[in-house]
Amino acid sequence: MSRDIPIHLAPDATAQPLAPTETTARALDAELAGLATPTDRIRAIRAALPGRIAFSTSLGLEDQAVLHAIADSGADIDVFTLDTGRHFEETFDTIAASEARYGLKIRLVAPDTGELERLVARDGVLGFRTSIESRKACCDVRKVRPLQRALAGADGWITGLRRGQSNGRADVPFATYDAAQGIVKLAPLADWSVETLERYVAAHDIPVNALHAHGFPSIGCQPCTRAIRPGEDIRAGRWWWEIADGKECGLHSNTAPRS
Ligand code: SF4
Repeated sequence: MSRDIPIHLAPDATAQPLAPTETTARALDAELAGLATPTDRIRAIRAALPGRIAFSTSLGLEDQAVLHAIADSGADIDVFTLDTGRHFEETFDTIAASEARYGLKIRLVAPDTGELERLVARDGVLGFRTSIESRKACCDVRKVRPLQRALAGADGWITGLRRGQSNGRADVPFATYDAAQGIVKLAPLADWSVETLERYVAAHDIPVNALHAHGFPSIGCQPCTRAIRPGEDIRAGRWWWEIADGKECGLHSNTAPRS
């Protein structure tokens, strides 16, 4: 008489977690839409993606709200900012205040030294003012390429994009798959209005860039950002010498309309 021999399959210690796919992003997009708080959304993102999740912060109002939610969630997220070498002093003050408040580190990602030296040797230290091409070359070396390096190998990329920020962002999803980088791009505040954002920041006493109180709703590099006048578009102070439409640094050109 034969006897059944129980077979115990040991977990394969060498098995790699599955990389995210379009299906992962679609399921996460639907899940995030059903969650009310940014803390819950960050936790859901962490639970859905097995590998490294990066949050690229520009230290703006939206990103400070996301940072608060990350700290509140306790989720393991790689928080970094692009140190272009041209930031306002107030932006570094915001980094220091945030690190002290939340007890975490915001990693500074610098441009490649060789690329930067060649750019400045060719175009000069203010070359970005001479043409749109030169400006895009500067953003490419100081922002886009460092961002690509920082995101390499990550499963998720958290941003502070909101649909209400501009017409170009009106359709920003909570989660979308970026096939070129093999990453899920995330916008946990996608459906927030500016009023919701401001209420959240005030209610949690979140540290913010002091320049916001001086007419700077959108803050980038110091030589490329000015205060706006009453009634101007919130991004009118970015690269203000260029024509208004389509002003982008290229950070969100792959999966969402703009940065
Ligand atoms: S915002 Fe201005 S200084 Fe900063 S990377 Fe772009 S062009 Fe260069």
